[in-house]
Amino acid sequence: MKLVTFVHEGREALGRVDDDATTIRDLGGVVGDRSLLEVIGDWERLGAAIAAARDLPVVEGARLRAPIPEPRRDLFAVGKNYREHVAEFGRSGYDSPDKSEDLPDKPIVFSKATTSVTGPYDDVEAHTGVTSELDYEAELAVIIGVGGRGITRDDAMGHVWGYTIVNDVTARDVQRDHKQWLLGKSLDTHAPMGPWAVSADEVGDLAALEVSSTVNGEPRQKAPVADLIFDVPELIRVLSAGMTLLPGDVIATGTPAGVGIGFDPPRFLVPGDVVECAISGLGALRNTIR
Ligand code: MG
Repeated sequence: MKLVTFVHEGREALGRVDDDATTIRDLGGVVGDRSLLEVIGDWERLGAAIAAARDLPVVEGARLRAPIPEPRRDLFAVGKNYREHVAEFGRSGYDSPDKSEDLPDKPIVFSKATTSVTGPYDDVEAHTGVTSELDYEAELAVIIGVGGRGITRDDAMGHVWGYTIVNDVTARDVQRDHKQWLLGKSLDTHAPMGPWAVSADEVGDLAALEVSSTVNGEPRQKAPVADLIFDVPELIRVLSAGMTLLPGDVIATGTPAGVGIGFDPPRFLVPGDVVECAISGLGALRNTIR
């Protein structure tokens, strides 16, 4: 099922989206004022109740927030996880400290501050004065259900609650100049997320999903999830090896080739640009740079 966090007449609540991918139904009568984070933490009980709920009231004119608008800790994100993107990043000169077109032999993991999360249709701040080299990265994001440590590849998919889309918006100059990526990846509004959190049972063949992006309608990125260098089970195995993963943790799995620094000269985002990031079956983000 597709779940959303919406705001309607000043009230924030959880909703379920119909198969038409448009109609939002209010789950307040089923989950009370619980957040999606709380619902995922009690999924065995609440998931069944949400699935069974009938005749839920339709909400008109709601604004969507990110499905998990305030994650309990920073988002995990993976760098250089699609082959052609590794090459374009290495060529660009923005890769720091590596500056390498070699494929990584282990996942490169960084984080994005919780305060970077914003809604699927909200504006993305240009942060003029902090960065002049703004870029987009469409990514499949995994939402952890049951937490754990030392999770094996074989068990990994059992720990996945579901999926969403994250645009891993990046201030390239800040990413390059500070060596460690946290700052360049964490400016406020630089993690549009959503539009829905889609439970894993609704996603068929994960590898067949296609990740794509456009800027002002011009196609930029397009690749199947099958092209990931380190797949979802491997990312969960590596992340959880010595660190406990928690229910509701979000892992952005990396971006395909076609980002702004992949062009020569680079094509950075400017105020007024509209960026769309889509994944088949998971919907699309649409954010304007302001
Ligand atoms: Mg990324």
